[in-house]
Amino acid sequence: TEQLIARRDRLLGPAYRLMYDEPLHFVRGEGAWLIDAAGRRYLDAYNNVTSLGHCHPTVVAAIAEQAATLATNTRYLQEGILNLAERLLATMPQGLDRMMLTCTGSEANDLAFRIANSATGGSGVIVTETAYHGITDAVAQFSPSLGVAVDLGAHVEIIPAPCALTEGEGGFGIAIEAAIARLRRRGIRPAMLIVDTMFTSDGVWPGPTGFLAPAAAAIRQAGGVFVADEVQPGFARTGEAFWGFQRHGVVPDIVTMGKPMGNGYPVAGLAIGADLVEDFGRNARYFNTFGGNSVSCAAAQAVLQVIEDEGLQENADRMGARLVSGLAALSQRHALLSAPRGAGLMIGVEIRRDGGPDRMAAAAIVNGLRREGVLISSCGKDQNVLKIRPPLIIGSAEVDQFIETLDRVLEGLQ
Ligand code: PMP
Repeated sequence: TEQLIARRDRLLGPAYRLMYDEPLHFVRGEGAWLIDAAGRRYLDAYNNVTSLGHCHPTVVAAIAEQAATLATNTRYLQEGILNLAERLLATMPQGLDRMMLTCTGSEANDLAFRIANSATGGSGVIVTETAYHGITDAVAQFSPSLGVAVDLGAHVEIIPAPCALTEGEGGFGIAIEAAIARLRRRGIRPAMLIVDTMFTSDGVWPGPTGFLAPAAAAIRQAGGVFVADEVQPGFARTGEAFWGFQRHGVVPDIVTMGKPMGNGYPVAGLAIGADLVEDFGRNARYFNTFGGNSVSCAAAQAVLQVIEDEGLQENADRMGARLVSGLAALSQRHALLSAPRGAGLMIGVEIRRDGGPDRMAAAAIVNGLRREGVLISSCGKDQNVLKIRPPLIIGSAEVDQFIETLDRVLEGLQ
């Protein structure tokens, strides 16, 4: 391990970070499990890319077959991209009837921002205080969770995460109106409000459902658009709905997506209404060499098929409820653990001591679990929220094993 770390530092440089005090070296994955170089198995309760389980055979076969037949781009006519667009748009509410494809969630958010700029003539962006939306220069400027190393742009306004909702469901809308007023005082016209609809990086805030509707109304009233970043909550993770925004009964102007879309193969994109995209397309040309390529479309099509065939939205709902009830029971016995919150298999648990957030204890739990063969991470403004996101195929024995292991790790910390 030491040698690999040194070689990695020498070849890749310092911008890449490893997870855990004792970094891991995996050589294989299957279902909810990752296997390291020594053959030890780890329960992956964190990776929300391989949502169908690692190396799902249906997706692997679809990728292999398409790669062996044709891998080409959107400058040629292809049926695969059209079949995918039809199928994905069928999961969207009326009004979202066009798809554009990219390779990463960052590119999808970057494109959403370009479209919002062009449609509104504005540049102002409103985001939550610990949001993450991606790595391009434009998107990093509205990703405050990247920390002090990245300058948020002067066109960016921060609003508190919904945990700070003090005025019920309307509180989030009021915060947005205040942010719009601050932008206007600087002479900046609002272009968009963008939120991860489960507020994952902000610490996982699933409810109260409904509070996004006044938020969307407030940004539209100011001439901007509402972008739902579904990179984390999308593709059935929340169990209650296929997309996170649907839990809030709101229809976004643009929906961005990625991560689990290809179960490990890079494919991402956005859904949008005809008017917005036609306005953009009149002034701009969009060609993304790998975005929407034949192989990525085959992977995404297979993912949608597996979610349906294996009833994975229902499984996320059932296993999420089992996990939450196990965590709730643990929180009765372990003072560090707050009551869990979440929807489906997107769950957050705050670690608090003496009434305040305890980042060190959260890190100790994450590293303790890793030593016991279970993978999770932490998130939130104070990095004290355990972020639990197992694959949608997780079974009840694995959920129980997760709870037993966490129980043991917490015992060890007392
Ligand atoms: N939006 C959200 C909410 C994300 O969590 C991420 C990735 N963590 C992104 C956008 C960026 O996606 P990608 O890493 O594929 O560029």
